[in-house]
Amino acid sequence: MVSTSPSSLVNIVAEQTGFTLFVGFDFDALEWRESYSIVRTLSKHAFGMAIDINPLQNPCIRGSSVQPATATDCVDRSKAFPHKIDETDFCKQVFESFGFRWGGHWRSVKDYQHFEKNN
Ligand SMILES: [Zn+2]
Repeated sequence: MVSTSPSSLVNIVAEQTGFTLFVGFDFDALEWRESYSIVRTLSKHAFGMAIDINPLQNPCIRGSSVQPATATDCVDRSKAFPHKIDETDFCKQVFESFGFRWGGHWRSVKDYQHFEKNN
């Protein structure tokens, strides 16, 4: 049986692409983090059900806020650059095939580094 934990999927992508993936500091951590919503709730990171991949190339964009702040060169998603996660990216395809949702599909916030799963 194939494990579908975020870390196992990172390993699949790394093995298939030969890339070393940089995983956000909250990798698989049971970390308190509030989600971006009006109602204060915990994000999937708090339950180990979310992962951030290559955040410097795939920032979280909310209005004029960019996180990490040093990732402003990668805000323009029409540009091509290494390690960009987009619709055709292998990493995105692997995570979605295992039921993860991609933050690049969100409406008010675009969190291109983020993948999360409900259960
Ligand atoms: Zn995240």
